[in-house]
Amino acid sequence: MKLPSTIAIDGPAASGKSTVGALLAERLGYTYFDTGVLYRAVTRAALDRNVSLQDAAAVTQVAQALTIDVLPPATDDGRQYTVTVDGEDVTWAIRKPDVEGNVSAVSAYPGVRSAMLAQQRRIADQGRIVMVGRDIGTVVLPQADLKVYLDAPAEERARRRWHEDQARGGSRTYEDLLADVRRRDAIDSTRQLAPLKPAADAIIVDTSTMTIDDVVAHLCELVQTLGSGSR
Ligand code: C5P
Repeated sequence: MKLPSTIAIDGPAASGKSTVGALLAERLGYTYFDTGVLYRAVTRAALDRNVSLQDAAAVTQVAQALTIDVLPPATDDGRQYTVTVDGEDVTWAIRKPDVEGNVSAVSAYPGVRSAMLAQQRRIADQGRIVMVGRDIGTVVLPQADLKVYLDAPAEERARRRWHEDQARGGSRTYEDLLADVRRRDAIDSTRQLAPLKPAADAIIVDTSTMTIDDVVAHLCELVQTLGSGSR
């Protein structure tokens, strides 16, 4: 049995991609890579360096110059991985509201996207990878062996984000998070380059009434089915 080696998981903000992707990768013994981290790291760096986020050329320059690494977790504080930008640990800094509120605008710049595209393809080249994002099945890995698109209504996704924030001791309101999710959906799905949408050959999974375990079990079945088909 030859299991699919490159697995693309796309979907809107808080659709469960990251949690599901990490668990699936762990079950399969594959590398997990969450591409949202790259766009978040660029946004963090641009904010920290006081680069105007309206200035596409300046933000693109930042994106091209950064060294972003995603490493095994360095601290046992609930992180899935450690993210460094030019050696500095930004794992939690890239989850802050100022990044959350600006990352979709930054990721819409073509120069930023092309700088990140090369990095993503290089990482995926090794195979045995679960790559998670918005355009993995459509643009980054159009030849992926398995493409999944996870979806759920904005209200449900905002509710999940609210629980995550509470668990981390945060103080964001549900309404605030819902507005954020909707704003990011709107920007991500209407941008000209690599908009958020399922690939024509993606399997769409509505996760609204599924637990994380249900979704992971379903994806494992898909992987096994595909593997047994290519025996
Ligand atoms: O998945 P996450 O919420 O971390 O992604 C942050 C933002 O990065 C998204 O809202 C989207 O604007 C951008 N992104 C993207 N393409 C990807 C992954 C993320 O444009 N493959």
